[in-house]
Amino acid sequence: MSTYDTGWQLVTLIGPNLTLAQQAKGAVHVHKQDCGDIKRQYRHSLSNAWSMVAVSKRDVVNAEYADHIREGSMTEEEAFDDIWFAPCVTLPTSQESQVK
Ligand SMILES: [Zn+2]
Repeated sequence: MSTYDTGWQLVTLIGPNLTLAQQAKGAVHVHKQDCGDIKRQYRHSLSNAWSMVAVSKRDVVNAEYADHIREGSMTEEEAFDDIWFAPCVTLPTSQESQVK
């Protein structure tokens, strides 16, 4: 029995070249890949944007900050704090804690 068969989401990561106002929320912003805000709000920051399939926010954090976490220059919690998830991202924080 799996609750996660359809629990994935295609998300786009934008940053860390965001405007200062945007960086106040987080160095890297994450939206659903087809979110209209991406083109509306990040026109000048899309050169670094990339997309991935994720089943949890932890997935996204670990993909973006894998090197830092592995090298020990950042903890997973610090990496979490650096990323802002837009409301359009409906992923659970981690797979284990998905409770409805
Ligand atoms: Zn969005």
